[in-house]
Amino acid sequence: MAEQIAPEEAHRQALVGELRLIDLRDQAEVLASGVIEIAEPLADRPLPQLLAESRQAVALMCQRGVRSARLCAEAADSSPVRLLNVAGGFEAWRAAGLPVNEPRSPFSARERERYLRHFALPEVGEAGQLKLRRASVLLVGAGGLGSPAALYLAAAGLGRIVIVDDDRVERSNLQRQVLHAEAGIGQLKVDSASARLRALNPDIEIETRALRLGRDTVDACVADVDLVIDGSDNFPTRYLLNAACLRHARPLLYAAVERFSGQLGLFAPGRSGQPCYRCLFPDAPGPGEVPNCAEAGVLGVLPGIIGTLQTLEALKMLLGLGDSLLGQVLVVDGLQMSFRKIRVSPDPECPECGS
Ligand SMILES: [Zn+2]
Repeated sequence: MAEQIAPEEAHRQALVGELRLIDLRDQAEVLASGVIEIAEPLADRPLPQLLAESRQAVALMCQRGVRSARLCAEAADSSPVRLLNVAGGFEAWRAAGLPVNEPRSPFSARERERYLRHFALPEVGEAGQLKLRRASVLLVGAGGLGSPAALYLAAAGLGRIVIVDDDRVERSNLQRQVLHAEAGIGQLKVDSASARLRALNPDIEIETRALRLGRDTVDACVADVDLVIDGSDNFPTRYLLNAACLRHARPLLYAAVERFSGQLGLFAPGRSGQPCYRCLFPDAPGPGEVPNCAEAGVLGVLPGIIGTLQTLEALKMLLGLGDSLLGQVLVVDGLQMSFRKIRVSPDPECPECGS
């Protein structure tokens, strides 16, 4: 049991220098609720090091006093100085009427202006925007699906976007791949994409890899991000991505389009009770069984709609908002204007995730 100190007493002792007050709350919590000027953030310092360097007693505080109590109890025995827990944490501090200041924004003036409409949403706010800034997404394919995904992720302030594609821009792409332009014909798609995205939002990181995903490259790409958006157009790549997402426990947003319709699904392979992409499509169709986009054709706006829906799911997942499409496939029929959700069951016989 950690030794407790009331917020008023902690404040009084910190004011006269008898106590070092350490705020364990993360940046998102501080942004959402306010700064205690007299407290130091623990940030990335290891607690034992901080305790070893302290001359006076140390009091830990978190949002509600639970995390800090646990940490106090763990560290108390080995601490060279007296270690206390601020009872009730920040909530009790504020309830006692002790000083709380407006948080300093982690965003530049330019970013604050750019994301004003996000900040206006209580569900996003600066704390949510910070989650987006810290997130990374792998975008496989800078084509029809990848175009709207890349543009909206960049516009939304997604901190790090990694784009993989080994194709070059062709004129026949421009009917749907809105990331590219006539002047970019002949360029690598990743180069054309990164120029467009940097022009759209200079405050984020764009990484490009001009390669075709293979067994030797997929793991490094997938392990390095929070979420994978699949904008590829072939089964081998989708299987490869699904397997890598299973190995590295990364969520996978799959999508496909053809003619006037499309579909998308969100998979979290490896999570208990969750299907993977291959539970849905256990076997790749033989050559010629499924016409590709080039043969069957596609109305240019369809990948725009499906890629935009993928991005909506990605942002919801990163922000922790709403009901996700997890374990389901949304089938969109553009001619009927119908949207149908189908739940996918985990397949015990699945060649990828089956036991
Ligand atoms: Zn499976």
